[in-house]
Amino acid sequence: MIAIDGISKWYGSFQVLTNCTTQVEKGEVVVVCGPSGSGKSTLIKCVNALEPFQTGQITVDGTKVKDKGTNLPKLRSRVGMVFQHFELFPHLSIIANLTLAQRKVLGRGADDAGKRGRDLLARVGLSAHADKFPGQLSGGQQQRVAIARALAMNPVVMLFDEPTSALDPEMVGEVLDVMVELARDGMTMMVVTHEMGFARKVADRVIFMDKGEIVEDAKKDDFFGKPRSERAQHFLSKIL
Ligand code: ATP
Ligand code: MG
Repeated sequence: MIAIDGISKWYGSFQVLTNCTTQVEKGEVVVVCGPSGSGKSTLIKCVNALEPFQTGQITVDGTKVKDKGTNLPKLRSRVGMVFQHFELFPHLSIIANLTLAQRKVLGRGADDAGKRGRDLLARVGLSAHADKFPGQLSGGQQQRVAIARALAMNPVVMLFDEPTSALDPEMVGEVLDVMVELARDGMTMMVVTHEMGFARKVADRVIFMDKGEIVEDAKKDDFFGKPRSERAQHFLSKIL
């Protein structure tokens, strides 16, 4: 579903990604971890072309990310993305947040978009909040809305960048629960997180990055059993 093939990227003279290669199969859940500054956010932003890369290629569901002929808005509509900060539109109601892109990007009618929005709000347990504004919801609730908003576009893959790291501890669980359910429903997911409980529960594979390189790319049990590299062992010993 996602093929990342020999990606390198520089910010000016600073090389942030070095020859990164991995694949995410349909229905697979891949957790990406590693120290701060190792390039995790940059790598997943390359997948939906939020960041350009100089060498290599990424293919999402058959579409080349770096290609003059690629329709980027269309590609992005098929790749759902959830960030650390929820980035809901503060001036729009929750239901309007869920329907805006469906209408503007996918051209769905108000009735269809509204129904899909309400179905997804129910799925994340927030039906009662449709007419509120983001500022009236807790951080955990806002992040569940952000997940629902991404799902409203019927993405083929979902990318998450530390979706729980800005939340108060008591709200982390409710967001992870939604993500676990999504994984169990068969969504293809690439998740940057340090929540190793989540990784143990639903990840198929774990990627460990350090200094812009994919140092480890292993089946979950192998990764947690004993990572091959010293750098990953050291990282795990600090966060587990
Ligand atoms: P964190 O765990 O802190 O979120 P990360 O693994 O997601 O870190 P990135 O945000 O991908 O790391 O950043 C990788 C490196 O690239 C860092 O050294 C960062 O300072 C640098 N970097 C990120 N964005 C830019 C930018 N726009 N211009 C220059 N350097 C950048
Ligand atoms: Mg990051």
